[in-house]
Amino acid sequence: MKYDVAIIGGGLAGLSLSIDLKKRGYSVIVIEKSNYPRHKVCGEYISMESHDYLQSICADLSMFDLPIINNFKLTSTGNQEYQTSLDLGGFGISRYLLEELLYTEAKKNDVIFKLKCKAFNIHCNKKEEYYIVKTNSGDVNASLICNSTGRKSNLETKEREKQLNGTNYIGIKYHVRLQRDNSFVEIHNFPGGYCGLSGIEEDKTCLCYIVNSKKLNNARNSIPELEKVYLFQNRHLKKLFNKAEFIIKEPLTISGIDFKIKESVSDSAFFLGDSAGSIAPVTGNGMSNALRSASALASMIDSYFSKTITKKQLVDNYKRFWNNEFSTRLKLSRHFQKLSEYPLLTNLSIGLFKSFPFLAKSIIRRTHGTSFFEPKLPK
Ligand SMILES: Cc1cc2nc3c(=O)[nH]c(=O)nc-3n(C[C@H](O)[C@H](O)[C@H](O)COP(=O)(O)OP(=O)(O)OC[C@H]3O[C@@H](n4cnc5c(N)ncnc54)[C@H](O)[C@@H]3O)c2cc1C
Repeated sequence: MKYDVAIIGGGLAGLSLSIDLKKRGYSVIVIEKSNYPRHKVCGEYISMESHDYLQSICADLSMFDLPIINNFKLTSTGNQEYQTSLDLGGFGISRYLLEELLYTEAKKNDVIFKLKCKAFNIHCNKKEEYYIVKTNSGDVNASLICNSTGRKSNLETKEREKQLNGTNYIGIKYHVRLQRDNSFVEIHNFPGGYCGLSGIEEDKTCLCYIVNSKKLNNARNSIPELEKVYLFQNRHLKKLFNKAEFIIKEPLTISGIDFKIKESVSDSAFFLGDSAGSIAPVTGNGMSNALRSASALASMIDSYFSKTITKKQLVDNYKRFWNNEFSTRLKLSRHFQKLSEYPLLTNLSIGLFKSFPFLAKSIIRRTHGTSFFEPKLPK
């Protein structure tokens, strides 16, 4: 069987692309190396710009009473604190629930899944103009391949690998119960990183931090030691950790986080979400970028299969879209990532934000987009 589209990687980008394409009438297979549902290290704050798109591909989202977040708090060591309202804001939902909803929706729409199945490489059958994905459980044939394998992928080509070395960060996540104002997304800076707090479903809070891996080495690779020595230098964080009831007792961890910009199209595949380049979590916008790229790619693939554009136009249009939308935001986010590792610089920023409130708003605006949902007319 030859599918219209094979999607490698069924995270947020891959799942939403699969539903969008299937709803447009194309045959789609998702190759996913793990299974659903699953917890993932993520701050679980989604910018409002994606809300309507998510709702359009997954109506069941509205069944959940999700916290709406329209305020932002930033603190650092030395009692510095800054608060502002968010123009666009966001909402909170765990990755566990979100992926489960999207997976269920995709299955309902007859997307085919190959789960616990790892893709190894992609070949092109030039004569018959289709691609073959080699996996550990057989080949998959498709007219187009989309790669949504996330930040770290075994499918990286030599050229892309060259761009992948950089500072290494570690991500750590808990779900907790805390008496707090759910309308706030909070970022608490400490030496080497920052910790985000964001309300999610069932009155829970996602507590997730990202830290330069050197700090974990300094703390003898012990997470409790890391928290005691570095995170608790911020008194807000120390208080929050002491007050919180930890639902996930053992933290979920990931390593090897970097923020490299890669490329959006290769000879054999279209890249979307983190596989094309990941934005620093401090902007709280990686999931929206994944969803925005899925939405745009689905619409362009639709134009290609409907013969409105050629393959070359599809490639050029997607590359152009990606650069216009994301490259500046990604580059900016890397500076904020570096900045947010140093309490002195965060304290300076807080001072500046207090004196010039428009500065904070302008930074938030420049790292986010506007709503990207366009209702589709029936064919
Ligand atoms: C610490 C941290 C906090 C964050 N907080 C936020 C936040 O609050 N808000 C926000 O918007 N963003 C946040 N992000 C970013 C966000 O998590 C990512 O941008 C988002 O997960 C990207 O989705 P994706 O679908 O591109 O990749 P992923 O969700 O990583 O999905 C990739 C999928 O591909 C599969 N896969 C990989 N290789 C293969 C293979 N060879 N074969 C088959 N399957 C494969 C994987 O199993 C996975 O399911 C955060 C990131 C980090 C690291």
